Amino acid sequence: MKRIRLLLSIVLLVFGLSAASAQEKSAAKTSKAVRFGKLWDAKGKLWTNAIVIVEGDRIKAVTSDPSAIPPGADVIDLSKYTGLPGLIDVHTHMTMYTDETPGQPMLKQLAANPPAVEVFLARKGALRTLEAGITTVRDLGADQYMDIAMRDLINRGEMIGPRMFVVGYGLYVTNTPYKPGPNLPAGGIADGVPEVLRVVRQQIAAGVDLIKMYASTGTDDDTTGFQTYNYEEIKAAVDTAHQFGKKIAIHSYGPDGARDAVRAGTDSLEHATDMDDATIAEMAKRGTFYVPTIDHNRFYLDNWQKIGYADGFQEKTKAFIARNLETARKAHKAGVKFAMGSDAIYTMFGENARELAWFVKAGMTPEQALRTATTNAAELLGKENELGAVAPGYLADLIAVEGDPLADINLAINNVRWVMKGGAVVADKTKNQVHQAGITK
Ligand SMILES: [Zn+2]
Repeated sequence: MKRIRLLLSIVLLVFGLSAASAQEKSAAKTSKAVRFGKLWDAKGKLWTNAIVIVEGDRIKAVTSDPSAIPPGADVIDLSKYTGLPGLIDVHTHMTMYTDETPGQPMLKQLAANPPAVEVFLARKGALRTLEAGITTVRDLGADQYMDIAMRDLINRGEMIGPRMFVVGYGLYVTNTPYKPGPNLPAGGIADGVPEVLRVVRQQIAAGVDLIKMYASTGTDDDTTGFQTYNYEEIKAAVDTAHQFGKKIAIHSYGPDGARDAVRAGTDSLEHATDMDDATIAEMAKRGTFYVPTIDHNRFYLDNWQKIGYADGFQEKTKAFIARNLETARKAHKAGVKFAMGSDAIYTMFGENARELAWFVKAGMTPEQALRTATTNAAELLGKENELGAVAPGYLADLIAVEGDPLADINLAINNVRWVMKGGAVVADKTKNQVHQAGITK
């Protein structure tokens, strides 16, 4: 008996050792060293000849010393490129992707597609978003908890897409005067404080990451901004979200909803055109994030026929864009914190970072604009210690840009050539570049 036990323990020991060494091998195998010609780490340093050492899904070290590369690491040579942290888009509608089926207006597709079809179609938009260098999104509104399904599928590795933080149903009042005809009840409708409490709690129970509330009219080709929720209702939503440790994003196209949302303590304010100086000053004082989403109206103007809007809205939308930009300029000047949100929907995915060009137009330097999509956005998510920067312990979200985006923001928009999310390479257009260079020689 004793000998058998001894034998057994030797066998176990040997197995144990070989399992341990296999584990070590796989750890060595998953370590990667990514070399960039330049690296903007979002921590205040612009590196030359940077090496980012990645282990599993995290960054282990940033160095310029080649001898620090662990033996056996996969070396990814991106020394022709500028490295940046993966970008964060804090306002998307990932589940509302539509294709361009001829004769099928995108508005109608959204209404007609069953949830499972919509989530399946959304994988294309998710991939385009990643290819544009967006490795994380805050998704601000979906039906049927499709956003939760999509977030979880991506986290399980069953769908390829950016990391998602989701809201479930946004809260809105009954019969927002937008579309004629019957307004079917949906999961987000809440009128009055008790209903607001119920619907906020319902979203949290469903498993959302944060809360969204529509405090004014305005969406698609409708640029009106009439306040829909009063101060008490907004305050109830903000306080309930915060009680549960969740943040809240409040939509207001116009200044009235914005004024009350800021004073009620919202974490971020979406769209918000024509804000008065006192509200802007209050945002700067409180540290409220402003997510102006200027570019989505540009997308609507460029694509209105495919979407299916009725002709005639264009002048109003153009005027809204101008006022939106002007409000952003004022807010930036007053020291308000910005986060980049595209409001991407339909086929806008992949154009997410175009918002940054508007921020530069509003007076930011390219570096300030990049902060809105990195450190600021991470802070808004409450993930400032693991997202939005290239530093030890952070998730390994990295992108390679051809050229210097700190000199020209358009390069961060159009020249993303390679993307890593959580330590895995999810987009790589560098090989084509090399090939093309070969041909031109
Ligand atoms: Zn939106």
